[in-house]
Amino acid sequence: MIGLIGAMAVEMEKLMADVEDRTETTVGMDRYVTGRLYGQEAVLAICGPGKVNAALCAGGMILRYHPQWILNLGVAGAGDRDVGICDMVVATGAVQHDFDTSHLGDPVGLVSKINLVEFPCDAALRERLVRAAEQIPGIHVHCGVIATGDQFIDREADRERIHRLFGAKAVEMEGAAIAHACYTYGVPCGILRSISDGANEQSPMDFGTFAALAADHTQRVVELVLKGLTA
Ligand code: SAH
Repeated sequence: MIGLIGAMAVEMEKLMADVEDRTETTVGMDRYVTGRLYGQEAVLAICGPGKVNAALCAGGMILRYHPQWILNLGVAGAGDRDVGICDMVVATGAVQHDFDTSHLGDPVGLVSKINLVEFPCDAALRERLVRAAEQIPGIHVHCGVIATGDQFIDREADRERIHRLFGAKAVEMEGAAIAHACYTYGVPCGILRSISDGANEQSPMDFGTFAALAADHTQRVVELVLKGLTA
């Protein structure tokens, strides 16, 4: 079984609509939809924005369904100036940019207990995502670090700081939390994001304009990846 998690309904609705033989199970505040999606056994969930929502949903999914891998898909702000709106970013790894005990001498982003700054993403899944994303016409595909925190980044100075600290290609609010849950339980994970805004002063407006289109692109990539697994 494959696990798919998005934060918002708009990021998952096309995939949700295509699930066959569906079953729905509610655990706590999370609704898990299982069934066949493009020929694959899958479990899908909308986790809600933010790291705690995302980690709870991913942890619950892993313990209940034991997915062979989990993909987090959705929209994000650009982390780097060379990443444009509607470009796609596939994560090599993910950091929690707002985990900060640096005043005690730790590196910014070091997650205590796990003792890691960057949570790894699965290389084979990344390859599949990149190959599929490259099939969407007119889209630039970037690979790199994705930075996660419990903030909508809409100031160029904040984006620049996160880029300087981590080399982030995208900023969002769930990816590293899902990677953290996956790391905890030894489940391979991937993060695919389509850029809805520049993580700058125009972001509140651009997010409203581009989120649905960007979310649609990532769902098309997932369709290609899942269909490719049976081909
Ligand atoms: N109350 C709103 C909150 C959306 S938060 C709702 O529930 O719809 C924005 C979402 O888009 C998050 O899931 C985040 O991962 C992503 N995102 C897009 N642009 C972002 C940015 N500039 N900074 C942080 N997250 C961003």
